[in-house]
Amino acid sequence: VIDLALLAPLDVAARADRVRAVFDDAGIDALVVSRLVNIRYLTGFTGSAGLLLVTRDGMHFTTDGRYQDQSAEQMAAAGVTADVAIGMADGQRAAISAAARQHARIGLEAHGVTWAQQRAYATDWFPHAELVATNGLVEDLRRVKDAGEIDRIRAACSIGDAALAAVRPALGTGIEERDFALALENEMRRLGASGTSFETIVASGPNGAKPHARPSHRQVQGGELVVLDFGCVVDGYCSDMTRTVAVGDPGDLSADLRRVHEVVLASHEAGKAAVRAGALAADVDRACRDVIADAGWADAFVHSTGHGVGLEIHEAPWVRSQSGDTLAVGHVVTVEPGVYLTGVGGVRIEDTVVVTEEGYRTLTESPRELVSA
Ligand code: ZN
Ligand code: ZN
Repeated sequence: VIDLALLAPLDVAARADRVRAVFDDAGIDALVVSRLVNIRYLTGFTGSAGLLLVTRDGMHFTTDGRYQDQSAEQMAAAGVTADVAIGMADGQRAAISAAARQHARIGLEAHGVTWAQQRAYATDWFPHAELVATNGLVEDLRRVKDAGEIDRIRAACSIGDAALAAVRPALGTGIEERDFALALENEMRRLGASGTSFETIVASGPNGAKPHARPSHRQVQGGELVVLDFGCVVDGYCSDMTRTVAVGDPGDLSADLRRVHEVVLASHEAGKAAVRAGALAADVDRACRDVIADAGWADAFVHSTGHGVGLEIHEAPWVRSQSGDTLAVGHVVTVEPGVYLTGVGGVRIEDTVVVTEEGYRTLTESPRELVSA
């Protein structure tokens, strides 16, 4: 069971200055942070409502009475200093509006603000200012993980590995997909995860041809492949892993299914081998895609190769053919090629890896080869 006290500390307090450092490029002198995940990143606050104004010399945070104690405790624990206003909607607006008064150009998170909110900000909150659409300022900073963040992701990945090892023997003929999913989720919680990082996928036999199949009442059968895609959360940080395993003796699988697994595993290894600081994410995608195309299944690899993992299960950088992202030390990304054959089944193999000075380190370590239960 994970002991949070043993994980490296998060350096939350240092992050606001990193946001301020991009103010000039963004053409702003204050930023309204409305995406809760970004508020968490900058303050340590984990509540379900709140708003943060980052200015060049301070931070102003507001939330409602439910979070009065929690926000004070979490910001103190994170070593973050902010002016805090607790109140109802009118009071929150008055506090942030007043704090923003001397700033002429106020950035909004364009990807996290609704049309209605933007109108309210323009009319009621910041009528004196020019509002500037910003895109992914905090998300861009979140790409590079510090030691404490990597420690949490690694812990979440280790829980996933341990949970799979514990429940894997139950994946035999007759168990329902949803019962196996529940066992996996339960084990991750028992081992210290706060929850799942996304809806667990257990897709047996032909269901495996749907990359995001939901666990059903279908009973898995010997001689089938089962796609298991799952992850958990430790102190806010996600893990993500896919394994495609045989039910019963892998020798009972059709030659076609064994071939698909072999090709996807080779694709997965080729993708990881392309991961290093300075590599284009698009090149990692191509390394995976080339192996599958050579086997004749280019059209059956219907999704992108991977994504960043952190406070969100899907975040920058993006590992796909059209990505403009370049990998850097401290990025945490997945490599998850797959082949999906309608009516037959599917194979996906996914690791979460951290980019290091030397190349990369794999954080998800469950066996990738076809092994029997
Ligand atoms: Zn996954
Ligand atoms: Zn993934």
